[in-house]
Amino acid sequence: QERSFIMVKPDGVERGLVGEIVSRFEKRGFKILALQLIHPSAELLQEHYKDLADKPFFPKLLAYMQSGPVAAFVIQGKGAVKIGRVMLGATNPQDSAPGTIRADFALDIGKNVCHGSDSVESAEREVALWFGDNIKS
Ligand code: ATP
Repeated sequence: QERSFIMVKPDGVERGLVGEIVSRFEKRGFKILALQLIHPSAELLQEHYKDLADKPFFPKLLAYMQSGPVAAFVIQGKGAVKIGRVMLGATNPQDSAPGTIRADFALDIGKNVCHGSDSVESAEREVALWFGDNIKS
């Protein structure tokens, strides 16, 4: 069964949206395989976002992602990666379709509430990076 890595970012945790966001994935039919609230290290975030290291917003992104704990979790189910992205909405909440998490809870691309893996390969990499072997199916 396909898996995806989903994360409620610090602004989402701070605003008390973890339950709402996890609940949306559960209600859609995905199984929650693992879930942890953690304060990620700079090293972990640099590895997670290594494809964005050259972007001008990268330092701000790292500071934002370290501004508080994140809720990291893994969903499992048919189409987890693609449906996960659809449920999050476009990266920029200004472009997100109504009913998506970002459209319903965010206005600013720099504080877009959540992350979801963008491919099956990224999902495998991210699940391993954030959870290692601490996962059961
Ligand atoms: P995520 O990886 O968080 O799911 P994404 O894959 O939709 O987001 P990416 O292009 O990988 O989008 O960007 C990763 C994150 O970097 C975005 O979610 C957002 O928090 C931040 N980001 C992207 N573009 C900008 C920007 N122009 N200004 C500020 N932050 C940005």
